[in-house]
Amino acid sequence: MQPTELPTYHTVGIGAGPANLSLAALLPAAGLGPVALFDRQPGPAWHPALLSPGVRMQTSWMKDLVSLVDPQHPLTFMNYLVTTGRLFALLNAQFDTIPRLEYVRYLTWAARRIEGIHYGTDVERITYTDDGFELFAGGRPIARAQHVSIGVGTRASRPAWMDGLPDTALIADDLGWRIDAMKAAEGALDAPVAVVGGGQTGLECVLKLLHAGFTDVRWLGRRQWFQTIDDSPVANEFYRPAHGQFLQQLSRGTRRRLVVEQGPTGDALTPGALRVLYQSNYDRMLDLDRFPAVLYPGRDVVSVTADGDGDGGELVMRCETPGGREEHRARYVVVAVGREASPVPFDDDLAERVEYDDDGDMLIEPDYSLRWKGMNGHRIFVLNRARYSHGVPDANLTLLPVRAATVINAMAGRQVFNVIDDLCPVRWIA
Ligand SMILES: Cc1cc2nc3c(=O)[nH]c(=O)nc-3n(C[C@H](O)[C@H](O)[C@H](O)COP(=O)(O)OP(=O)(O)OC[C@H]3O[C@@H](n4cnc5c(N)ncnc54)[C@H](O)[C@@H]3O)c2cc1C
Repeated sequence: MQPTELPTYHTVGIGAGPANLSLAALLPAAGLGPVALFDRQPGPAWHPALLSPGVRMQTSWMKDLVSLVDPQHPLTFMNYLVTTGRLFALLNAQFDTIPRLEYVRYLTWAARRIEGIHYGTDVERITYTDDGFELFAGGRPIARAQHVSIGVGTRASRPAWMDGLPDTALIADDLGWRIDAMKAAEGALDAPVAVVGGGQTGLECVLKLLHAGFTDVRWLGRRQWFQTIDDSPVANEFYRPAHGQFLQQLSRGTRRRLVVEQGPTGDALTPGALRVLYQSNYDRMLDLDRFPAVLYPGRDVVSVTADGDGDGGELVMRCETPGGREEHRARYVVVAVGREASPVPFDDDLAERVEYDDDGDMLIEPDYSLRWKGMNGHRIFVLNRARYSHGVPDANLTLLPVRAATVINAMAGRQVFNVIDDLCPVRWIA
């Protein structure tokens, strides 16, 4: 295709996860021109590898793609419930937070109503020309745009100690499709299985193993206890626009310090899921006369080696503990040590133009635009990449529409959406 024949958009989004879906749902209100999203997934999906039946959201259903800035938008979660006929069933199920699977169904419903989403398209390269940006996929140009919105999300972290280990060491994302084969192996259900990582994904892996019938599950976490989310009203004050505005008045170093301290308000366990684990563990204890899952807090796994010949052998984990060192042996090690930012497919020229702070993070302005050299009116917006400069909500769903509204107002150069958050009982200081 000649460059002149390329489809041309006002904005292209890399990734069609909740961040860019929210932007694409709200952008038409600004009347700026067509938008297109490109995602490598074959269709609408949200962390498909980590979707087990029964897992719940960590945030309220009100935190949908649009409601916080436009409650009359056709893509509200409430409209989804009403038009798909599931409102009363969901209300009467009296969930504290909705099933993750229901959120996926909502996203799928919404994505089908947003024009211009191209699935099965892995964007390999973003190039900057004097006329704007060009995207490449499958080795050829696929689109041009004035502005780009990066919404590539995160991927599972793989600690360096996994390198060279047999496939009996696996990341949590692979547990779902591996578990049937794991339990079918000779003596597997009574063999020790370790889960490394004391966060919500680790907890869900432990539960999955228990429900599959494993009877010796060892859960290792780095902190001194398996910490639940602080969902108190005052902790939730960090998840409002007013706190984001407060942070923007501070130096980058101070913002980072505060955001690190705020981690347990989001990066921790859902109390309900922890209770399910305790109760499942107790139920199985009544059969076995011992707990099938044992918690090992305060263990920092620093190395794992394979002892024996892969499947039949054991993995030997060495941990640092408050008292020194400790060793654990397991047939399988399931690794759930967190997530890291997915790579942004800038070409070399564009990557060199990007400005970074002293911690190596991209410099993102208060309106979520990237600071880069030679922008000439064309802007790159970056979503879910500014946690330490913009606050804890940047990494999750709680303020998606507010962030999208901020981006749209910046693109339009006017207040398309008015985000008002004046009624706040807290006076922060740093
Ligand atoms: C299991 C799990 C549960 C979570 N639950 C909650 C919760 O309950 N509440 C909450 O607030 N937060 C939650 N989070 C955190 C956060 O909300 C999610 O990670 C959220 O999905 C972030 O949205 P996103 O659009 O930025 O990224 P993602 O949802 O990760 O979407 C990124 C998309 O970009 C695509 N992509 C990446 N690179 C390319 C490329 N080069 N070309 C084309 N496509 C590309 C990917 O295929 C993906 O579809 C959860 C996270 C996880 C992992």
